[in-house]
Amino acid sequence: MLESCKLCPRRCGANRAEGRLGYCGAGRLPRVFRYGPHFGEEPPLTGEKGSGTVFFSHCTMRCIYCQNHPWSQGGQGEDLEIDALTGIFRSLAAKGCHNWNLVSPTPWLPQIKEALFPLLSAGISLPIVYNTSGFELVETLERFSDLADIALCDLRYATSACAAEGSDAPRYVECSREALRWFWNRLGPLELDPVGLARRGVICRLLALPGRVQEAVENLKWLAETVGTGISVSVMSQYTPVYRALERDGWNRRVTAEEYEMLTDAVDSLGFDNGWVQEYEDVAPEGLLGQEMPAGEGAVGAESRSSAASSV
Ligand code: SF4
Repeated sequence: MLESCKLCPRRCGANRAEGRLGYCGAGRLPRVFRYGPHFGEEPPLTGEKGSGTVFFSHCTMRCIYCQNHPWSQGGQGEDLEIDALTGIFRSLAAKGCHNWNLVSPTPWLPQIKEALFPLLSAGISLPIVYNTSGFELVETLERFSDLADIALCDLRYATSACAAEGSDAPRYVECSREALRWFWNRLGPLELDPVGLARRGVICRLLALPGRVQEAVENLKWLAETVGTGISVSVMSQYTPVYRALERDGWNRRVTAEEYEMLTDAVDSLGFDNGWVQEYEDVAPEGLLGQEMPAGEGAVGAESRSSAASSV
């Protein structure tokens, strides 16, 4: 599959098997920036011992405000042979993590599948969280459907213009909605075990963007009409202008309290009753200011989500 990579909607066709780099920057060997128990995900993923999170380098999106840009776009991380990646998954299970949380796994799905195979064959298994921007191809999701027990899927934009401006992904809206629908049809609502840990289902994340909260409101309406209000939503206020957004008018500020209230009001008025609403924060959560963090193993902070939230 790496000889002409078409894993994501960019379908750039790079011959990664020969070491060529795709649009996303991914080559042959899986590259990992950081891994460890993560305590900033939604409560049924975090539990007491953390979500076993692996931050993969190279992302198929080009978000101008990406808080993970040193590795998602800058390529920081370490190239790993498959057995080393197997070792990471094994170590996360040994630490008691409640799941394997694959952050931006799309360019690496064949290698992840290969790395997990020996563990699954040996009966070492955790729920797998497919943690994605939503910019996915359904045919790829079908092919790697055993790598998604729980989908943690963004719906970030509702217009092509905004998706092009924010992430160089004009086809994002159709791709993410098809992906979300596919996840929902396959996995359905979030299922919890007796102690409240997620074992299967879909969580949809909606990030309020400055001056563009209507994008998230439109996605909530789409969810209500398409999959219904039983889906768990995770509404996030944590947008922080970092990276290239610092120099872009309109993107170089935080979301206002009034803007965020538009989104939380929509959650209520549309009747969503499962999920979490992050509290409004008017200062950047610690860890979201774009500082570079050391690669490797360690407890993972707020790189993907700040944890302060209340139930819907
Ligand atoms: S995953 Fe990367 S290499 Fe593969 S098609 Fe997408 S952008 Fe190209």
